[in-house]
Amino acid sequence: MSVELGFRCSCCGQRHAGLPFSYGSLAPSYWQESFEGSPGSVLGDEHCVIGGEHFFVRARLLLPVVDAEEEFEWSVWVSLSEPSFDRMTTWWTEPGRVDEPSYFGWLSTELPLYEPTTLNLKTMVHSQAIGTRPTVELEPTGHPLAVEQRAGITLARVQDIAERLLHPGGPASS
Ligand SMILES: [Zn+2]
Repeated sequence: MSVELGFRCSCCGQRHAGLPFSYGSLAPSYWQESFEGSPGSVLGDEHCVIGGEHFFVRARLLLPVVDAEEEFEWSVWVSLSEPSFDRMTTWWTEPGRVDEPSYFGWLSTELPLYEPTTLNLKTMVHSQAIGTRPTVELEPTGHPLAVEQRAGITLARVQDIAERLLHPGGPASS
């Protein structure tokens, strides 16, 4: 499969090693480095709180890839209400968390390449078994990202994403 072999880039003409199927994001888009160490603000690997009043959890936004066996993953952050956040963190280490009802949340990662912005899309967050990040299900709107989650994407689109992230300025840049 082309995932391991890499791909011939239509942008720069070179062969790039490996085709990424996931992209991370280390903090919610609202996080600023100046928050570090300030009261009520903390950024962890899985959780984030800003000013004691905005609560985020890290999650996986999966897109089916119709011509591959693997799903494509945008690693994202989702804003939860304080009661939902409290409940999720209370259940964090409980095996029964997988049976928790879904939590409503606002997408809090501005993903590249999408118009209009992905910020504040409505989502449902589904808890998974311990050790696995929760998954995000977008409200079934006409937003391009929501359409991709419903309909799936192709390997060609996965490559298109890789090329556009490698060469943000287009064919002229390297
Ligand atoms: Zn390239």
